[in-house]
Amino acid sequence: MHIPFCVKKCPYCDFYSITDTSLKQRFISTIISEMKMTCNPPFKFDTLYIGGGTPSVLDTKLITRVIETASSLYNLLADSEITIEVNPGTVKPEKLKEYKDAGINRISIGVQSFQERNFNFLGRIHTAEDAGLAIQWARDAGFENIGIDLIYGIPGQTRESWYCDLHQAVLYEPEHLSCYMLTYELGTPMEKDLQNGTFKPMDGKMVGDLFTTNIEFLAGKSYAQYEISNFARGKNLRSRHNQKYWSVAPYIGLGPSAHSFIEPRRCWNKASVTAYIKDLEEGRIPVDGQEVLSREQMMTESILLGLRKADGIDVSEFNSRFDENFFEIFGKQIDDFEKKGLIVTNQTGCALTVKGMLFLDSITSMLVSQGF
Ligand code: SF4
Repeated sequence: MHIPFCVKKCPYCDFYSITDTSLKQRFISTIISEMKMTCNPPFKFDTLYIGGGTPSVLDTKLITRVIETASSLYNLLADSEITIEVNPGTVKPEKLKEYKDAGINRISIGVQSFQERNFNFLGRIHTAEDAGLAIQWARDAGFENIGIDLIYGIPGQTRESWYCDLHQAVLYEPEHLSCYMLTYELGTPMEKDLQNGTFKPMDGKMVGDLFTTNIEFLAGKSYAQYEISNFARGKNLRSRHNQKYWSVAPYIGLGPSAHSFIEPRRCWNKASVTAYIKDLEEGRIPVDGQEVLSREQMMTESILLGLRKADGIDVSEFNSRFDENFFEIFGKQIDDFEKKGLIVTNQTGCALTVKGMLFLDSITSMLVSQGF
């Protein structure tokens, strides 16, 4: 569920959101209409992810309304993982308690850093104190599954300052940590500043060093990497929802710009709150486009997404899904990558090494271009 409102746009972000929240009541009524129009797929649901945008800019009663509607319209199982993304500076203890009462059992906090110079560069509205309080309040509200997001690769960041952020994060003992590499998405203000030479990006080798640092440091603190950017203190604490994306499972996306996928069709909604509301108020599903994935495209996605996971591609699952023999198609290329220390294989799986994870995109494209 994409809640498309933010207090302020961060210059690096290319997710669709607006800062004018005057349409929030109408938006909630229309997302409920969208749920009513799309609630009959032949699935049971065991995750609900309320992301954005910044869902925590909405009043809790609006969030409660969408959760109650989703629970009644979709076949949401009793032990479903229900996550909300919150940003420090937009929550108070009462709000977090109300989220808990509304049935939310997992909270993902967009901390990004604990250092002022990084907040300034990233254009974030909060302080390190706000971040610490949000984590503490979530714990006090009774959340037993708290995730913290951090960003590395920020210009000027050193290995020591990144260690400080990681160290500070684990002091709060979150169950889950996401460490995202700063990327310069085309068309964002930060990407334009980069093109104009306003700042110098961190060099690629240093970014690679920090990536390796994450894995080593967090392993020493009992956080196992289970996906390129994601770490958890136990298998049961991994994001059940995000694992579905990496396993190419079907999902329904609601809200402006949200994507849905039911194999082999992917579709996406209009990336405009006003167009989204207008369509739904006039009885139309606000779809902006769709594509039907070919068998080769499905295989490529399975490989790309499978290689994101530390466990790698489940080869027997791949073979039965496509009625193929994975190692017969890709064996030669896999052997080459294995000799270079980029991939490891066994009877059942094929995964990138830490070194290989730095080359995910190029390894995937070489595999599929030479395999098909
Ligand atoms: S708060 Fe999050 S969604 Fe909103 S602009 Fe910043 S990064 Fe993007």
